[in-house]
Amino acid sequence: MASLAAAGYASRMWTPEITPTDPENSLPARLPEVGDKPRDGFALLHAILQNAAQQVLDIVYPPSCVACLAAVQQSAALCTTCWSTMPFIERPFCERLGTPFTHDLGPGLVSPEAIANPPVYGRARAVARFEDGPARQLVHRLKYGDRAELAAPMGRWMTRAAAELLPDADLLVPVPLHRRRLFQRRFNQAAVLAQTISRLSGVPSDPLVLRRVRPTSPQVGLTRAQRADNVQGAFRVSPEDRPKIDGRKVVLVDDVMTSGATANAASRVLLRAGAASVDVVVFARVV
Ligand SMILES: [Zn+2]
Repeated sequence: MASLAAAGYASRMWTPEITPTDPENSLPARLPEVGDKPRDGFALLHAILQNAAQQVLDIVYPPSCVACLAAVQQSAALCTTCWSTMPFIERPFCERLGTPFTHDLGPGLVSPEAIANPPVYGRARAVARFEDGPARQLVHRLKYGDRAELAAPMGRWMTRAAAELLPDADLLVPVPLHRRRLFQRRFNQAAVLAQTISRLSGVPSDPLVLRRVRPTSPQVGLTRAQRADNVQGAFRVSPEDRPKIDGRKVVLVDDVMTSGATANAASRVLLRAGAASVDVVVFARVV
């Protein structure tokens, strides 16, 4: 632990997403003017207080890397080590699955995997490969550690990864947990990620339209066919919620994609409920 902290102090903190233009981490660019609605004044005051509160918090609780907990200089940031080892997915990648290619063979290319097993959804995008290291640490800490504040940096990366999907989207739909699991964990990590993406993109999120009607056993250790069977019939859109989906371009949100069986099962149900299209954004995916 001491060595981790020392490493953190030694390394310069890296905050790629936190720039002066970041709405969450800076004051409004424009000062209020005469004739502004009072709301703008309150927003400025709120931002100033929030900033001051964060500075006090940073003194009382020194900020730590969101993945490995090494000390950093600013909250909601990765340390340089985690930043440099985070397996970000960058182009070139398969237009359908979002899986990275080793060689750039030109734009608009679809992988052999997507041709052999076409996904039910249109396009999937992911921030990072789901590998040991910071990507897995972040997913784990968000899911099992009740660390809801991780949703802010993770959701920000997802918003960037979904930059092609969000401008046309009408609705974000987080992959739901069965109510029994929701009760155990107290919060749905996909829903908090969707909330952040919604705040940054302006696309509304509805965590209730898609429901998990059947609890599913963990997908770990199952074959592709078993995973598909496991989530068969797990999701439902109730008839009274269909108008909320009908004709809408939906972006399904989840923390991790493994085989894609969950995303496919959820997409199938949304398309049957009348969705015009379903794309998917996840934080990390197995490739
Ligand atoms: Zn770190």
